[in-house]
Amino acid sequence: GLKLGVRCRIRGAPTEKKMSKAANRLMRKTPVPPPLIRTPDTKDSLVERPGALKPPSPAKEGHVEAQREADRLNALQDLNILDTPNEPFFDNIVELMRRMFSVDMAIIALVDGHRSWPKASAGLGGIEVARKDAFSHKVVETGKMLHVPDALTDRHFSTHPMVRGEDGVRFYFGLPVRSADGQIVGTLAVLDRTPRHVQPHQIDALKNMARVLTDHLALRKLAVSDGLTGVLTRRAFETEGQRLAALCSRHRHALSLICFDLDHFKAINDTYGHQAGDKVLTEVAAACQSLLRESDLFGRVGGEEFGVLLPETSRRGALLVAEKIRRAVSELRFTFEGKVVGVTASFGVARDRNRRHDLSKLMGWADAAMYRAKKRGRNCCVALGVSSDPDAGRRRRVLKAGQVVFAHNSAAIDCTVRSLGADGAGVDMTSTTDVPDRFQLVIRSDGLDARCRVTSRTPTHLEVDFK
Ligand code: GH3
Ligand code: MG
Ligand code: MG
Repeated sequence: GLKLGVRCRIRGAPTEKKMSKAANRLMRKTPVPPPLIRTPDTKDSLVERPGALKPPSPAKEGHVEAQREADRLNALQDLNILDTPNEPFFDNIVELMRRMFSVDMAIIALVDGHRSWPKASAGLGGIEVARKDAFSHKVVETGKMLHVPDALTDRHFSTHPMVRGEDGVRFYFGLPVRSADGQIVGTLAVLDRTPRHVQPHQIDALKNMARVLTDHLALRKLAVSDGLTGVLTRRAFETEGQRLAALCSRHRHALSLICFDLDHFKAINDTYGHQAGDKVLTEVAAACQSLLRESDLFGRVGGEEFGVLLPETSRRGALLVAEKIRRAVSELRFTFEGKVVGVTASFGVARDRNRRHDLSKLMGWADAAMYRAKKRGRNCCVALGVSSDPDAGRRRRVLKAGQVVFAHNSAAIDCTVRSLGADGAGVDMTSTTDVPDRFQLVIRSDGLDARCRVTSRTPTHLEVDFK
């Protein structure tokens, strides 16, 4: 079981030896935290203050802020952790924090453009919340630890949805979790339903744990094979894929990419549980692997998304492979709770017929094609036509903070831009329900303000064409 105390080993954690080496290297870069003081502008939130900073000019400020957010999101994207399944390491940390602090709830939240997404939580529902509604937003925004002894009497938080709502949060203490290069990617926090004060030794404990998280995030990036399915991790797929793409470009060989995403996978989790979902993922990966050649690259690029990179393969060839995998996946049968269950996936195929292969572009195109396959009714394969207009369908995978603006500029919804090209974009948001078919997409860090038309829609994702 779990031992209490910060120095105990956590299941799933890297060994101490490995850790200390990495920790030494990494911690030197971790800035020394400034002392705690009470801020004059808040009644009772205790926050960390860096040394006196000259206030930047307002015009510059907006730009600097947008750039800082862009850098932060780049670091977050680099971690390849958003929307990944539970991992024992993070689950154990929050459970440990909850016990150490004797509190009701603990959470590790990652903050992207539009939401705070829980990588692990104990005692909480564990669902993502809109960024503006999250305590973690404040921590990321200020870059400082946040101590709210009693949210009900704190003027910043008394009307907060987590305070007024079902969670009934009264106490919050959270601090930034940084990537190895110092960017704030999320928060580690303890929460309670009764007001309380955090003790100095507890602050140290939580700070230490945040550093452990930084180290783990760095080591986690080095993993080559995915713990559940055994296929390449996204990171490894990208690294190997870039190498392969460069090689194929140099020799002017064909190269194609298939991306596929399981259809209505959430329903499997919701109906039969997470373990059933895991079983499906494992079997799908095995079925796909058995159809591929030794020279093909196969990776899990998202929670229930896979990528297959096929050297020496034309678009026609890749479509045939995609179709073979599609059929194999749709023929799998599982028995859950006495019911026989099947699964399907939607496939996108991309290639650069000019043979200047660039993996991230290929992934953007394949993604866009895959969304078209979803729109076409799922369980099918779509290859994007990129031949006539060289810029058509050219999307890069990105992670950018954006805003969807409509109703004559009177409504704005925060979003995360996941893919971006000259012709359009793919954006995630908490809910697409209220978004009309035409709107403006604004990405402040890029100075982008584009008129958009929705081409495909799910409850949380929009594909748009620029007009
Ligand atoms: P769509 O056809 O539009 O793709 O529908 P979907 O339900 O698959 O949509 P969505 O992408 O929103 O849902 C993916 C779900 O996959 C959400 C997430 O909880 C689940 N998931 C991701 N990784 C894992 C995993 O490793 N194990 C399990 N059991 N579920 C996972
Ligand atoms: Mg998906
Ligand atoms: Mg899916």
